[in-house]
Amino acid sequence: MKLHCEVEVISRHLPALGLRNRGKGVRAVLSLCQQTSRSQPSARAFLLISTLKDKRGTRYELRENIEQFFTKFVDEGKATVRLKEPPVDICLSKANSSSLKGFLSAVRLAHRGCKVDIPVSTLTPVKTSEFENFKTKMVITSKKDYPLSKNFPYSLEHLQTSYCGLVRVDMRMLCLKNLRKLDLSHNHIKKLPATIGDLIHLQELNLNDNHLESFSVALCQSTLQKSLRTLDLSKNKIKALPVQFCQLQELTNLKLDDNELIQFPCKIGQLINLRFLSAARNKLPFLPSEFRNLSLEYLDLFGNTFEQPKILPVIKLQAPLTLLESSARTILYNRIPYGSHIIPFHLCQDLDTAKTCVCGRFCLNSFIQGTTTMNLHSVAHTVVLVDNMGGTEAPIVSYFCSLGCYVNSSDMLK
Ligand SMILES: [Zn+2]
Repeated sequence: MKLHCEVEVISRHLPALGLRNRGKGVRAVLSLCQQTSRSQPSARAFLLISTLKDKRGTRYELRENIEQFFTKFVDEGKATVRLKEPPVDICLSKANSSSLKGFLSAVRLAHRGCKVDIPVSTLTPVKTSEFENFKTKMVITSKKDYPLSKNFPYSLEHLQTSYCGLVRVDMRMLCLKNLRKLDLSHNHIKKLPATIGDLIHLQELNLNDNHLESFSVALCQSTLQKSLRTLDLSKNKIKALPVQFCQLQELTNLKLDDNELIQFPCKIGQLINLRFLSAARNKLPFLPSEFRNLSLEYLDLFGNTFEQPKILPVIKLQAPLTLLESSARTILYNRIPYGSHIIPFHLCQDLDTAKTCVCGRFCLNSFIQGTTTMNLHSVAHTVVLVDNMGGTEAPIVSYFCSLGCYVNSSDMLK
């Protein structure tokens, strides 16, 4: 029985000597071996740890030699086996979680001296080819190379399958829990499964040149919120992104070129880590007011259908404010937490899409809306011209919660 994973063997004497471990595992093949000899009729069980540098491996006696198992993170492919003699902790990581569970239960049986019913390995050196299962990167750029009968190596951290004619995301990819970079560009994918959000380490997702029409709310609210840094949705058919998109707070690099976007998500200013934004050749008529809050290094909005700012403002002020309006303003101003478990879902949606006045307060249905132009250099270091005329200005919507706010800012609107 074998297990492929990363291993670090830590001596428990190290801290007493004032030394520290490296904190990083090496790729290894773990084998569970049994050996019978004439002098000892009962089988001895060993754990054999082989690495590329040490293919013969190091043996550790298992029988009645385990002090403790640490298996809290076994679902993430991590566990630690603490041995009595020698006093070491064997830390396993990046294992396939179901293989790890199977292996640990066999180790447990060997510790108790039970006969292990599964085929055990002999004490022979591990072949170099076995380490190929540790592939961390795989690039496939044609249909004929796409694995149909073989699984993807579970240790993959970077997978690219481009020009493979995929119409949906292969479920086998969603089991690759170590994936950091997934490139599915140049395929025919129409819809993304919400389970992509279960790839807890995914930092880079490339979906350039597919047939996507949306990016789901479920994905915006998945663990991608904590991991996703780079997202490429260029050359798709996306018309709008949900307001929850702005909860992908770790995003630094977002590409939306060549879609059919008619608006940015209104809370785009919440993407505080965003540095590179390109949305060239879309159908944006103007930018949302929160766009001013971005702080970018690079911005490309070339070839959009920006409209001329309207001279007359749209006035939708209520007097007096409705109960809904004033309570919504209060909730948002005081940052009172809300959710669909407390108030009806449609009210949550209203609150999620509330407009921000230039004074920093919020408004729902009672506001004055004006359009003005902004120079894109005020939010980005490097700006690609928005048109062939050499302009770097784009129309932006502004909201005012009251007549007072509008009058005070009327200079801005000129
Ligand atoms: Zn105001």
